[in-house]
Amino acid sequence: MPVPLFDTATPLAPLRDELVAKLGEVFDSGRYILGPEVRGFEEEFAASLGARHAIGVANGTDALTLALRALGVGPGDEVIVPSFTFYASAEAIPPTGARPVFCDVDPDTFCVTQETVQAAMTPRTKAVIVVHLFGNVAPVEEIEALGVPVVEDAAQAAGALTAEGRRAGSLGTVATFSFFPSKNLGAFGDAGAVVTSDEALDERVRMLRFHGSRDKESFELVGYNSRLDELQAALLRVTLPYLDAWCDGRRAAAAAYEESDLGEVAQLPQPAAGCTPAWHLYVVRHPRADDLAAALQAAEIGHKAYYRVPTHRQPAMREFGAVELPVTDELARTHLAIPMSPVLSREQVAEVSEAAHAVVANRMR
Ligand SMILES: *Cc1c(COP(=O)(O)O)cnc(C)c1O
Repeated sequence: MPVPLFDTATPLAPLRDELVAKLGEVFDSGRYILGPEVRGFEEEFAASLGARHAIGVANGTDALTLALRALGVGPGDEVIVPSFTFYASAEAIPPTGARPVFCDVDPDTFCVTQETVQAAMTPRTKAVIVVHLFGNVAPVEEIEALGVPVVEDAAQAAGALTAEGRRAGSLGTVATFSFFPSKNLGAFGDAGAVVTSDEALDERVRMLRFHGSRDKESFELVGYNSRLDELQAALLRVTLPYLDAWCDGRRAAAAAYEESDLGEVAQLPQPAAGCTPAWHLYVVRHPRADDLAAALQAAEIGHKAYYRVPTHRQPAMREFGAVELPVTDELARTHLAIPMSPVLSREQVAEVSEAAHAVVANRMR
């Protein structure tokens, strides 16, 4: 049986009636921009993270740019960011006027470490974007101990917990989320949020998302039009209560991979320092990742090499890309995402593992 790379439809199917009713409610309300649904979602999402404020914005990329702007990042500044991440983590920096400075990551967790960030620091470093990649949890406290504010890019980490039970997205000075439909907490279109417990940052992000204004009359900053809309917020209020159960389903699938014999064929991903990952993606490593992909393809098993060309080697980043990142280059070459979802079954995991074993047999031919 084919196994899809991810499955967003099955977990949502039981909520269909409730979601459609919400659409009708918002339609009838006549309030479509910055109304009670956005307010309600912001409060519920912040509370779910143990943070004071959440500000709904248009998407996760804008969330990063607005968070950096709120921190005062601008021309002449440098922002450290891993190269092994979705391109948007770095793309959000140049619009502030600052330069991205790429750092390396840990080969087992795929996340930045205190050492890799420290190696990229200069007197111009104004902030660090720490990506909780694939739903793992990066060591935010250790990096803030270096004396620079951390922006947590938690786009892939909704539902992830530290060893102490704190939530990814509540660990640093400010955090950003994407609710792109395929993320752990997905909307039905583009959506994002900035999260912070700092009053001044909350106020600045609220202004920046609305043309730099508090009241539509006085415009104090050159800002953005980047709002979460009422429809998306209303739907997110329906799905948010299910996030943890969905993450438990992902964790059960990860446990099934660990208990399977897949580890004989490929290197399995490691949770960082006692954390409980949200497993947005389940990404293994193999020295011949394209051969592993071919073996999975032959069995109709979903797979994807998300970051085969790392960000610092992308054409648009040429100006910032002259840096040696050996672990990033190695991971870019060897990583492969395999099926993961809240409803991935043990039987499906067994099929993935069996199909992956063909890569060993193929080498013998
Ligand atoms: C998805 C993602 C983003 C961007 O979010 P959008 O809502 O698509 O703009 C940023 N960073 C990471 C790590 C992501 O996975």
